[in-house]
Amino acid sequence: MRYLILSDIHANATALEAAMAAAEGRWDKIICLGDVVGYGPDPNEVVDRVRKMDVAIIRGNHDKAGSGLANADDFNPVARAVALWTRDQLRGENREWLEQLPAGPLAMDGFVMVHGAFRDEDEYVFAPAQAIDSLLDAPAQITFFGHTHLQGGFTLHDNKVGVLHLKPGASDLYSTLSIDDDTVYLLNPGSIGQPRDGDPRAAFVIADLEKKSVEFWRVPYDIESVQKRMGTCGLPEPLIMRLAYGR
Ligand code: ZN
Repeated sequence: MRYLILSDIHANATALEAAMAAAEGRWDKIICLGDVVGYGPDPNEVVDRVRKMDVAIIRGNHDKAGSGLANADDFNPVARAVALWTRDQLRGENREWLEQLPAGPLAMDGFVMVHGAFRDEDEYVFAPAQAIDSLLDAPAQITFFGHTHLQGGFTLHDNKVGVLHLKPGASDLYSTLSIDDDTVYLLNPGSIGQPRDGDPRAAFVIADLEKKSVEFWRVPYDIESVQKRMGTCGLPEPLIMRLAYGR
């Protein structure tokens, strides 16, 4: 079974379409690690698209805030403004769909999905010291997580935590990780709609665990068209600018 693993789409329909086009014919089952909405200009389009997929999905913090399930008081002012705008834009059925998304962790065949971390769906795992709990808690050899928008991940091998540097180069579409039987993995596909690791291309993963292969993909998309829509919607300028830098 080949899995297409999406995370942090963040209401960016153009990035999602580019990723789906690049991945076409390369996967059998799709999973999503949450944050379907927030930050981007296309909440209804993206929710419509994801709802039509036969997808295994868990919620992210922006799905809770955008649907109104959680207030956005712990968001920074810019993120909060967009969460409230998103809530306003969403059609009722899309808001309800977001509201009923399950919290992680969600166990799949051979791996587990979380949005942030095992103990707290909203926790950010940026560094090895933060990864160790999730690596030790993991009920499966491989956990896929999102939330940080940083493609890559962490390993636990011989009681040592390692950092994986797997981002494909500027001229490459993907780089491949070979899964080692004696290692536990915490892997982040990166963000479709708002990358923050310095590469503005849409990020995702294609995993074939029978072949012990995990591909970390980056696909270019028309960033300017998304920035224009964000401007038309009156979304905050810093969010518009950061798409071009992938920061
Ligand atoms: Zn996110």
